[in-house]
Amino acid sequence: MTTVAESRTVGGSAPDNSSRDDHHGIRVRIHRGANEIGGSCVELESQGSRLVLDVGKPLWAGWDEVVPLPAVAGLADWTDRSLSGVVISHPHLDHYGLIAQADSRVPIYIGKEATSLLKAAEFFSSAGIDLRPDGFLRDRVPLRIGAFTVTPYLMDHSAFDSYSLLVEADGHRLFYTGDIRGHGRKSRLFEQLLSHPPTPVDVLLLEGTHVGQGDGSPEACRSERDVELSLTRRMKQTEGALSVISSAQNIDRLVTVYRACKRGGRILVTDLYTASLAHAIGRQTIPQPGFPDYKVYLPNHQRRLVKKSREFDRMELVRECRVFPEWLAEHAGEVTLLLPASTAPELLRSGVLANGAVVWSMWPGYLKEPSGTRLKELLTSNGVPFILDHASGHAPVADLQRLATALKPSRLVPIHTEGASLYNEFFENVETHSDGEWWN
Ligand SMILES: [Zn+2]
Repeated sequence: MTTVAESRTVGGSAPDNSSRDDHHGIRVRIHRGANEIGGSCVELESQGSRLVLDVGKPLWAGWDEVVPLPAVAGLADWTDRSLSGVVISHPHLDHYGLIAQADSRVPIYIGKEATSLLKAAEFFSSAGIDLRPDGFLRDRVPLRIGAFTVTPYLMDHSAFDSYSLLVEADGHRLFYTGDIRGHGRKSRLFEQLLSHPPTPVDVLLLEGTHVGQGDGSPEACRSERDVELSLTRRMKQTEGALSVISSAQNIDRLVTVYRACKRGGRILVTDLYTASLAHAIGRQTIPQPGFPDYKVYLPNHQRRLVKKSREFDRMELVRECRVFPEWLAEHAGEVTLLLPASTAPELLRSGVLANGAVVWSMWPGYLKEPSGTRLKELLTSNGVPFILDHASGHAPVADLQRLATALKPSRLVPIHTEGASLYNEFFENVETHSDGEWWN
């Protein structure tokens, strides 16, 4: 069933204009992602118009490492106006991370709340950016971009405001999943897609983060609800503070930890970064300053950041709910901290973690990096228990199979995966393509 078509172009080569031949339908070229998790970029061409889905930075690239833009004509310099725009499926670096290198005149489309989140993150982290999009993705509201009609489907993923994309042109339909799962706080959206699939689908570009990654791994099988329940249990069992380490941009996890706090009878304490993001999204359902039993602690590095920038108005948000190390140490048994890993030394110094425990609620792979090893050593040498408790942002193979069955695509093409060669074992009508190759 697999046809590995011959690669006509090599990824990273000069822009290839062979896409301009007279033809019907949609031509597709995966620039990155055919055999890689992260750094996704797909170029589509129809009737002389081109559209790009995601311009991600590869996960292997370091924070300050410069990775060249994919070879999409007009992306870097806007010299080729047949490029109609770039659609960013969700606000994760491996999907938008190279967009700052694109010419600022190239039209960008992304969710409105994703835009607010990335803008608010810019002050705190290099994983933030002021995008100024030309249009916003809205759930099931079609957008006309060049020769393409793009219908976004709001989706369940660890990034906030994530979309799968149905792209139609010249009578053909391609469905790009983006990054998806069905076991997060918005699992209803995944089930909705299964019960009301946008069929017929000619081509399904299906993410496969967990394909070939040992689907039985504990992380792949756990849901946000599982994490909520186990955190609740730990809050009841721990004598001192429970410190949960997660990504500030993982809003689902913020909601999970807050809900666990309600059940476990604890006060949630986040940093200013998390509080600012939750506030910036502007949704009253997301825990933020002003919510009952929600307080904010400013880690030393964020205190210095505010001081150096002189942007003291940022403190207005937390004026009523700010707490200090002495208060935390005094109320350790009543709080759950949702703070970055870098705060561990200062929390230990102020005695906040005495009789407490630390929960790693992120991808366990980060723990293999030097900073992860240092954190584990620091906690162990101070006698603080260190526990893993996480749910993946990506669907296990069983859920991907349910999706493929519902969408019944004529052809299913792997993306965002290291297991492309294994798709045949799990799905029908699989067709693999290499990075850089144009196909119809
Ligand atoms: Zn991704």
